[in-house]
Amino acid sequence: MSKINELKSFSKDIKGKIIFDYDLKKTNWFNIGGITKAYFKPESLNELISFLKKFGSKEKIFLLGAGSNVLIKDEIFQGVIIKLGKNFSNISLLSETTLVAGSATVDKKLSEFACENNIGGFEFLSCIPGTIGGGLKMNSGCFNREFKDILLSIQAVDKNGKILTIPSSRIKFIYRGNDLDRDLIFLSASFRGKLEDKQIVQNTINSLKDQKDQTQPTKIKTGGSTFKNPTNQTKERVWELIRKSVPLDTKFGDAEISEKHSNFFVNKNNATFKDMKNLIDFVKQNVKSKTGIDIETEIEIVE
Ligand SMILES: Cc1cc2nc3c(=O)[nH]c(=O)nc-3n(C[C@H](O)[C@H](O)[C@H](O)COP(=O)(O)OP(=O)(O)OC[C@H]3O[C@@H](n4cnc5c(N)ncnc54)[C@H](O)[C@@H]3O)c2cc1C
Repeated sequence: MSKINELKSFSKDIKGKIIFDYDLKKTNWFNIGGITKAYFKPESLNELISFLKKFGSKEKIFLLGAGSNVLIKDEIFQGVIIKLGKNFSNISLLSETTLVAGSATVDKKLSEFACENNIGGFEFLSCIPGTIGGGLKMNSGCFNREFKDILLSIQAVDKNGKILTIPSSRIKFIYRGNDLDRDLIFLSASFRGKLEDKQIVQNTINSLKDQKDQTQPTKIKTGGSTFKNPTNQTKERVWELIRKSVPLDTKFGDAEISEKHSNFFVNKNNATFKDMKNLIDFVKQNVKSKTGIDIETEIEIVE
């Protein structure tokens, strides 16, 4: 049986959905991307595990969270995009200050849940538009706090369907990344905060959101910070390097640099993958030739 027919036959035996030839444009913040051969939304952990046991080592797999850090190619994705849904987004309280959240939980929801339960330390999550899974992979952060600062452990499944629990002490986190196997699918994570009055937590959330709104654009088609700050090469922030190296009205098709934040690139209307990639390459080359500094993308290119 061909791989596609095997997938079709598997899809008949499950409660979840496999959609074939699914348009990925609507699955990500940039609103860019082609079609995927298959888009799998498992209904349960059991379904995800049986999928991995059957297809984990023979299909190309990409795990998509909220799509706020990815730029997807316009060509067909010759594999399976997995999207974890509401059955992977429970949050519960393990103790007064310890929480566990499914990896499809939106960061903001976890921050709100912590606030309702008088737990501080999760306020920064209200400013990151991703999911817990994406945040673990990217070690996302802002206002001097990152996922690693609140993480206790991760529960994950490998590509053969084996479940693992990984304490945070065994993970080496770096700026926007970690040293875990890239094939791992995160299922949930436990986090620790500190007891704090609800009103104080809420005030901090409001103040962080205000600061973010003042400096970064909102309600646009973007992937957030395009490049990482090159902290090992200079103290200057990447937006400053871009400002001094590139005319800020540079455009490729509908791909532009945000007027509010030079490290945020925007799909103004119908930008293609190529438009956005050309803009990224142009900025990277110009920063290198003007400042001598090599900048690396923070957004992930999915091909
Ligand atoms: C307007 C805007 C503002 C932003 N501000 C910030 C900010 O302040 N700080 C910051 O750090 N980032 C920021 N970002 C980037 C982005 O929100 C974060 O990187 C976020 O954590 C990505 O989560 P996601 O669910 O959208 O992941 P996706 O973009 O869907 O995926 C990102 C990576 O995570 C992987 N992944 C997702 N879920 C799982 C899972 N369950 N298991 C294994 N791997 C998984 C994907 O395979 C991919 O490699 C911003 C983005 C936007 C659009």
